[in-house]
Amino acid sequence: MDVTGLMVKYYHTCHRELWFYANNIDVDRENVGIRHGSAVDDSSYEDKKRSVFVDGRIQLDVLDNGNIVEVKRSSALEEPGEMQLKFYLWYLKTKKDIDVTGELAYPTERKRESIELTHEDEQEMERIVDAIQEIISEPTPPEAERKPICDACAYHDLCWV
Ligand code: SF4
Repeated sequence: MDVTGLMVKYYHTCHRELWFYANNIDVDRENVGIRHGSAVDDSSYEDKKRSVFVDGRIQLDVLDNGNIVEVKRSSALEEPGEMQLKFYLWYLKTKKDIDVTGELAYPTERKRESIELTHEDEQEMERIVDAIQEIISEPTPPEAERKPICDACAYHDLCWV
């Protein structure tokens, strides 16, 4: 299975969530209070970004200045968002020979951060992609481990009933 940016984000939040997502176990995300889901208010960027599809599976948002932007609700989960963005930068660089800069944006906090892909990041991303392939190809999900995000996770009822 092809690894996506969302899988890289889930790898950094919860391996069990990653496995559920990659193995087609989905939930109605509109009806749960997920903290790290797709319901991010990015209306402040609507007129500044365009969606670009790469290889039919990766959707990027490109700003007027050419940077790739990832809009997040809160910087509380900064690492998953940063790694998701670095995956996009890594994919463009290694698969398409396109070298661009990223921007992490938190509209509710009026915060923006420039993200560059380093050589170490490239090596780390190779390792992460291999690790994700390993996790999602297992026949069963990893055991649930209680985390602060569990109460707001879309898969809560599959872990803690
Ligand atoms: S409820 Fe917790 S353990 Fe279960 S998938 Fe979500 S984050 Fe992972």
